[in-house]
Amino acid sequence: MNKFIFLLLVLMSPLFSSPKVIILLGAPGAGKGTQAAYLKDTYCLPHISTGDLFRENLSKMTPIGQKAKGYMDKGELVPDSIVVEMLGARLEQDDCKNGYILDGFPRTLPQAELLKEKLDSKKKIIVLSLEVPDDLIVQRLTGRFSCEACGTPFHKTFSPPKTAGVCDKCGGKLVQRKDDIEEVIRNRLMVFHNQTAPLKEYYQKQGLLFSLDGTLPKDVLSRKIDAILNQ
Ligand code: AMP
Repeated sequence: MNKFIFLLLVLMSPLFSSPKVIILLGAPGAGKGTQAAYLKDTYCLPHISTGDLFRENLSKMTPIGQKAKGYMDKGELVPDSIVVEMLGARLEQDDCKNGYILDGFPRTLPQAELLKEKLDSKKKIIVLSLEVPDDLIVQRLTGRFSCEACGTPFHKTFSPPKTAGVCDKCGGKLVQRKDDIEEVIRNRLMVFHNQTAPLKEYYQKQGLLFSLDGTLPKDVLSRKIDAILNQ
């Protein structure tokens, strides 16, 4: 197909299709946030990351942030009741009525069941599972930094800043996430394999799962996701 027509179809598809709920599954550092940002811009759907919502609550010291802090610092999952309280309010907002992208939720079978109860039958669920080996995850996360001021991401090996510790874009200070240290990463990976990976089978049985190679270059992966969403 002509490239221009393909792009036009991708851009216009949200206008014609039924509301979509895109669930990004994958270990921490599998690239969910990167693909979510692409999908948000391309399909005009809000990107809802429970990790980001928790970090926002934490920085504002809200009661939810205070309750979540201890779990997040150790790389453990925040109890379902707290996650659902926080996310429920977000999904009620007007921008979610035509669908949304979920990044980091659901992470347990009870969360997946709660989501299923909440969704009306008009919403089409698509689950994209990004597969990345554990060793590469550790390499990705231990080298990950972002700008304190503008949020631009960098990586010590894959996309280093021109000056160590300084943002190329705005000169801000580069910081590492508190849970991106190896000991906590190993725990997050264990939690992922024990509690989140079973969701793959759960969604596969419902015919909603698409598995993708998360080690592919990000643009190649985005093209593969486009093909799934437009089929
Ligand atoms: P993330 O940015 O997705 O890696 O999430 C950072 C941390 O937030 C996780 O390690 C958990 O402590 C917490 N978190 C995020 N989403 C969830 C969820 N759906 N259920 C439980 N805890 C979560």
